[in-house]
Amino acid sequence: MKSEKAVLAMMPSQSNDETISSMMKKILEKIGEDPAREGLVRTPDRAEKALRFLTSGYEVDINQMVNGALFTHECDEMVIVKDIEFFSMCEHHLLPFFGMMHVAYLPKKKVIGLSKIPRIVDAFARRLQLQERLTHQVAQTLQDVLQPKGVGVICEARHFCMRMRGVEKQHSGTITSAMLGGFRERKETRDEFLSLVGRKN
Ligand SMILES: [Zn+2]
Repeated sequence: MKSEKAVLAMMPSQSNDETISSMMKKILEKIGEDPAREGLVRTPDRAEKALRFLTSGYEVDINQMVNGALFTHECDEMVIVKDIEFFSMCEHHLLPFFGMMHVAYLPKKKVIGLSKIPRIVDAFARRLQLQERLTHQVAQTLQDVLQPKGVGVICEARHFCMRMRGVEKQHSGTITSAMLGGFRERKETRDEFLSLVGRKN
């Protein structure tokens, strides 16, 4: 997984004079803060770096990332990577949502290096997102690159926009899933996946 520094080094530098940082400074003024006080002097720059890192998924070329990690392997056992931690930002409030993703597929001819699956999750999580879309994009990407017999993705998340604003009860979460191919068509496949990740159908 790339560090914040490594990702920032890949970012294109800005040419126009209105930067995210300068706009952050204006936001601080708008909410009634004094951007010149000690604790806030460097905040606009830090906030820009943080925002750029949290949205660095837009820069990721998925095909290039999975290139070299696809292998031919005759196998029809389910492959599962569970408890993939992710952090994303809700596109409606620009507040974080985070949680775990469980990803499975039924190979046909190709398998993918297991470490690539969390990186695919990061590539889509580090954008402005909806949980439903994030879940579906991870599933569809595996479908596209592997052409497997099926893909299943379950995403369990907690949303700051719900928790901090008092909409959500303190300990409730949101679960979304995307089931493609055999995971959609065959209850046995879906049940196997759900039981292996500790979920009942
Ligand atoms: Zn939201």
